[in-house]
Amino acid sequence: MRFANGAKLSCCGVRNVPATIHCIRGVMSCCHLLTDDDASIMVDTGMVGEPLLIRRLIRKLGLQPHSIKAVLLTHGHIDHAGNLAWLQEWSGARVFGHADEVRHVVGNYPYTGITRWCGRLEAAGRFLFRYRPGRIDEFITDGLELPFWGGLRVIHLPGHSKGHCGFFSAQHNLLFSGDMFASYFFKVHKPPAILNSVPELFPASIEKVRRLAPRWIVPNHYDVLDGELHRRRFCRLFQLADWDGQRKVV
Ligand SMILES: [Zn+2]
Ligand SMILES: [Zn+2]
Repeated sequence: MRFANGAKLSCCGVRNVPATIHCIRGVMSCCHLLTDDDASIMVDTGMVGEPLLIRRLIRKLGLQPHSIKAVLLTHGHIDHAGNLAWLQEWSGARVFGHADEVRHVVGNYPYTGITRWCGRLEAAGRFLFRYRPGRIDEFITDGLELPFWGGLRVIHLPGHSKGHCGFFSAQHNLLFSGDMFASYFFKVHKPPAILNSVPELFPASIEKVRRLAPRWIVPNHYDVLDGELHRRRFCRLFQLADWDGQRKVV
């Protein structure tokens, strides 16, 4: 892939997504840079090693740190908000996230029952990787239209966490689905039970995605960046008839 400024990027395995999505593949998860002439944005910030990868990508694309105008948080787990504080300082971007994710970002979410294990894992991760909590500047709610990347609609998809949100681009008919599911060729699966704070809300969120019927789905945990493949896997996992890119409800 070659950009207007002559920079080249490897794009092995990238299919069925707009060329303006750039995957930053970290150890734990992927986060994404969405480039735009006016305002590039990040969807999530990753965890370990991503600052180096994000810096390198920005340089390759001929952008500047302040080209990143906003960070959209799908949720506040450490593998998504791990570099939030760094990215805020480095770029000056405003951070958009759901109010129910603040306690995850701060690191004092009151996990109960089996999800206490999630809290213990996050506490260990915060200690090991010297986590610094970032700050959510603007709270988002379901249906809010954000003026980035040609327009992104907030789709509140609770279940994995209470304030878990997806972001839907009508222009590209594409949903960033956060941690609704993980999509690898060897295993497509729901998030493990210990990571889901409000599992009783999951079925309604799956139904919401089905009604939205996006042509392409981009999760945060996956093998290759292929929006159609992930949509097919999502449908298979949740036993839905594949809508095959034909949106049913706008
Ligand atoms: Zn998560
Ligand atoms: Zn995750």
